[in-house]
Amino acid sequence: MKDRLAARVRDLQPSGIRRAFELIATMDDPINMSIGQAHYDPPPELIEAACRAMRGGANRYTVTQGLPELNERILAALVERSGHRPDACFVTSGVSGGLMLSFLALLDPGDVILLPDPNFMMYRVLAELCGAEVRYYDLYPHWQPDPAQIDELVDERTKIVFMNSPSNPTGGVLSQAAVDALVRAAERVGAFVVADEIYDAFVFDGSLPSPLGAYDRVIQLGGFSKTYGIPGWRMGYATGPAAILDRMQTLQQFSFVCAPAPFQVAVAEVAFGLDMSEHVRDYRAKRDRLVAELDPAFRLTPPGGAFYAFPGLPGRATGKDFVEAALAEQLILVPGSGFSRRDTHFRLSFAVSDEDLGRGISVLNRLAEQFT
Ligand code: PMP
Repeated sequence: MKDRLAARVRDLQPSGIRRAFELIATMDDPINMSIGQAHYDPPPELIEAACRAMRGGANRYTVTQGLPELNERILAALVERSGHRPDACFVTSGVSGGLMLSFLALLDPGDVILLPDPNFMMYRVLAELCGAEVRYYDLYPHWQPDPAQIDELVDERTKIVFMNSPSNPTGGVLSQAAVDALVRAAERVGAFVVADEIYDAFVFDGSLPSPLGAYDRVIQLGGFSKTYGIPGWRMGYATGPAAILDRMQTLQQFSFVCAPAPFQVAVAEVAFGLDMSEHVRDYRAKRDRLVAELDPAFRLTPPGGAFYAFPGLPGRATGKDFVEAALAEQLILVPGSGFSRRDTHFRLSFAVSDEDLGRGISVLNRLAEQFT
């Protein structure tokens, strides 16, 4: 039967992270540092607002672009953060929805997209579904690109120069110079900049350099999953030039239809008034502890944002050996090869309790001795 499948899915590999989910179910008291979501519950006000919205009848489709008051609040928040008001905005089914729609709207077979290496694996899969050619710019070892390499990679076939800051899996925050270099390279050939800023709330040192307002071909994707602990709500947004967003919305009409109605109401009503800074401070403290206590054998570049670190594998360990040795000690990690062409690092999420962070660091430091 397999030969009847479309070529695009025949050899599609499941995400390494899903495999971790299956393993966890079989373990007693795992230290789960593999998870890509906040470890706190959503604010109760947000849950109450969603329940109220459902009881109040917000259970039908909304307009494709999402509730006008929600779009207005998103734009106002972006103006406050960046001083720039994007041309257009619409609500997507998570940032995943925005990624799919922007790639479908921009990439023809044979077009080139520049992705960072390492990166969140969804980008490559979606780009390849569109038939695009993927080229990688290197972020190792300090999670900043080399402008000369970007210039070499960009040519007339380049349609998208992609950036993700703060980054999954590295926690890296692109410097202003790095953002400028990526934007200038795109501008030189008329390519689009697509920027995934889903972790914009989790920036630990200063403000977030962003391409917003730097160029008229910037599509910026943002979301609510991470900040408010609501990844299951599937709430995100896209901003950018009206002519492109109009095409993305038309695709949304024929695919996702709209983001979930009651959650749109709840997010519009409540989310923008909530102060999540206590959680961000907590993750900054967890980052600081990790940087202070992790054995130097891991060659950790301190993450500037998100809730991930991407330490180097100690000694001559392969990702598979190291992650399996950690598993034997109940610690769940993701090998870096799931995010990269290299097998030299691993991802850990510090969106865990302080107790689990301490247990995880102890296991890692024991493993460092074993592998070096
Ligand atoms: N972009 C990045 C960098 C992510 O880490 C994730 C979630 N892991 C997403 C996008 C997708 O998020 P959403 O829940 O908004 O679809």
